[in-house]
Amino acid sequence: MYDYDLVVVGSANADLVIGVERRPAAGETVLGSDLAVHPGGKGANQAVAAARLGARTALVARVGDDPHGRLLLDSLSSSGVDTAAVAAGGAPTGVALITVDPSGDNSIVVSPGANGRLTPEDARAVADRVLRPAPVVSAQLEIPLETVTEVVRLLAPGTRFVLNPSPPRELPAGLLAACDPLIVNEHEARVIAGDGALGDGPEEWARALLALGPRSVVVTLGARGAVTAEAGGDVTRVPSVRVDAVDTTGAGDAFTAALAWRLGLGESLPVAAAYAARVGAVAVTREGAQASYPTAEEVAAL
Ligand code: ADP
Repeated sequence: MYDYDLVVVGSANADLVIGVERRPAAGETVLGSDLAVHPGGKGANQAVAAARLGARTALVARVGDDPHGRLLLDSLSSSGVDTAAVAAGGAPTGVALITVDPSGDNSIVVSPGANGRLTPEDARAVADRVLRPAPVVSAQLEIPLETVTEVVRLLAPGTRFVLNPSPPRELPAGLLAACDPLIVNEHEARVIAGDGALGDGPEEWARALLALGPRSVVVTLGARGAVTAEAGGDVTRVPSVRVDAVDTTGAGDAFTAALAWRLGLGESLPVAAAYAARVGAVAVTREGAQASYPTAEEVAAL
């Protein structure tokens, strides 16, 4: 019996959002709307998405000893995420400065802050208490790569590792080999496989990524659903659910969290991905990232 259903290792950011008529050019000042502050970061988003679905979830992260850090800890706790492995201090909480124009186009500057200080030593400090008692551990790349590789090294033999390599970069072979699955959107697939390595359709992309060494691959395709591929097994198309999308922010994080959780419950990759597609579909029908994440009842009602 595990202590958690899912442990997420990753970033926690305060998203500072200002609506503007026009995004400023170099040297220009524009006036905007009142500031809105939202909890964000891919790690925190995934943890909140899983906890809202009912998964016993812990987050391994680092925030600053400051008001943004407290805002993040509060939002995680109130969603039911175990924050005992969220360290505080060492640098300001990570922030994303976001300007959005009326067409929905945005410009974003991220200061990783404390996320950049989540060290391999931080991972070692929580290995026995949090990482090992989990059937699934999921990570992204808004924290140092050496911390992600250390997490993989620390896992118990039976623990499944799920990686969404975002923001994408070239990955060491040892890390790729641990991914089960590697979850990418089209942009991430191109960076990781190299543009030329990808064939015509997403089924070919999944096969090309699988050839790099992960045990399994999921390519997410927005409104077109997803494709799953397993080493030595099938490539499966997972349809999306038809919905009226209003805001796709954080859909990929909700998809990844739901998939990782369901894999830990013992579902096959295509079945878990079909569930995750339903979770992603609900998330895009509502504004925001964490605010848009559904409960299991809401997914069942879709
Ligand atoms: P990312 O946000 O990482 O780019 P995607 O946009 O591919 O990820 O979204 C992840 C998943 O969420 C998709 O595979 C799909 O299942 C679901 N999804 C996203 N956008 C839509 C949409 N417009 N309609 C229905 N489902 C969607």
